Amino acid sequence: MHNTELWQRVLAEVELNCSRASFNTWFQHTAIHTKEDGIVLISVPNSFAKEWLENKFNKFILKSLRSAASDVKDVKFIISSSPEHIKQRKKRAEEREVAPLDNQFDFNGVDKDTNLNTRYVFNDFVIGSSNELAHAAAISITKNLGTIYNPLFIYGEVGLGKTHLLQSIGNEVLKLDKTKKVKYVSSEKFTSELVQAIQNRGMDRFKEEYRKNDLLIIDDVQFLAGKDKTQEEFFHTFNSLYEKNKQIVISSDRPPKAIPTLEDRLRSRFEGGMIADIGYPDYETRLAILKNKTVKKQVSLSNEILEYIANSFQKNVRELEGALNKVIIQFRVSKHPVVLDDIKKILSPTMAAPKKNINIKHIIHAVAQFYGIQEKQLLIKTRKQEIVRPRQIIMYLLREEFKFSYPSIGSKIGGRDHTTVMHACEKIAEYLRKDDGLLEEINVIKKMIYNM
Ligand code: ADP
Ligand code: MG
Repeated sequence: MHNTELWQRVLAEVELNCSRASFNTWFQHTAIHTKEDGIVLISVPNSFAKEWLENKFNKFILKSLRSAASDVKDVKFIISSSPEHIKQRKKRAEEREVAPLDNQFDFNGVDKDTNLNTRYVFNDFVIGSSNELAHAAAISITKNLGTIYNPLFIYGEVGLGKTHLLQSIGNEVLKLDKTKKVKYVSSEKFTSELVQAIQNRGMDRFKEEYRKNDLLIIDDVQFLAGKDKTQEEFFHTFNSLYEKNKQIVISSDRPPKAIPTLEDRLRSRFEGGMIADIGYPDYETRLAILKNKTVKKQVSLSNEILEYIANSFQKNVRELEGALNKVIIQFRVSKHPVVLDDIKKILSPTMAAPKKNINIKHIIHAVAQFYGIQEKQLLIKTRKQEIVRPRQIIMYLLREEFKFSYPSIGSKIGGRDHTTVMHACEKIAEYLRKDDGLLEEINVIKKMIYNM
């Protein structure tokens, strides 16, 4: 097999098994340099990528190479910028230089300097017992920047309003004093900017960009887990700001001590300020959120319908909003008056399931049936794509639909680690965002499960 083809195969497999962001970050501009005496030499664009691939992907790459070419014995990495890469990089840098400073906001309303989206404001944030502490801390920070709680660390599960709160802090600080320097960034963006800075010899600028702020907001910091270099740089950024009494705000899907492979010194920094969690919203909060949205969107829905939606989506405000949006669309397009029964039909595939009679066997059975695979095949260790995806779907359904814990899913699906399960769920969630076909597949599978 030709080297190019061999590498394509490996990349295809890697892509299936890691997030898009990390695939782009670590595998862009990689290639097989040579393959001699069973030693495959892979060229990578910089030392950062080299270190990362050696530490995190070595085994995976080797295994994947071997499954495609059995004579492969070992894999090594070298830094090599092919002339083509250098050219591309230069071009990109030039494009950045001459890019006109047209509009301060992109088409989503995101400010290009601060990364803040103007749609997130305190005013639209509904306060309830699940989030009042986090909200109060957020508000008080805007009035005492860098002096009372530093850092402010907000954690909670996905879809419960962390990003909304974080961005509201940024927007509010600028509203109170527009000379303040504010920057909002996800930890993934922080990582990819860091990688770019290293590639383009832009570290000084990167440091300046992050250390000049009065308020630095880092969203979803759990994604720093396992990224040693990024953590190192973030640690220095953190200290630099902290020493100058500049405010740092952080969010995560779990408390600092539950983030695996977070360096201890970062963990203790995170724990040194104020930690506030956001829980599931109670019924009144959910209903208030729905009512707020209908007022903003200028539609009037009956209480019966709003109550039905509020009852059906209890653990995720994003899903709650999504359901409301579906209903609103139905209202706008329907020629007949929409009644509760219509709403039930529209929402049923996405709705939290009646959980009582359904167990793991039903789910495996349905997925196996749907994809025409034997059930036991789904549990054996293999990286075959036709098995991997359905297996990920099983894990996703167990987690998202039936709220099993990650470790318990892992142990039921052939003794896998909880991180594997988390990864599987993220993967499927990611596919779902881009692939409506998959959404259909999963809806059919859900129906099969409920009809068993
Ligand atoms: P997270 O970052 O925790 O995953 P987000 O902040 O993205 O969650 O919230 C998901 C959606 O729910 C957003 O559209 C947000 O505006 C909305 N939302 C969450 N909590 C509230 C709340 N308390 N009041 C109003 N909207 C909320
Ligand atoms: Mg978020």
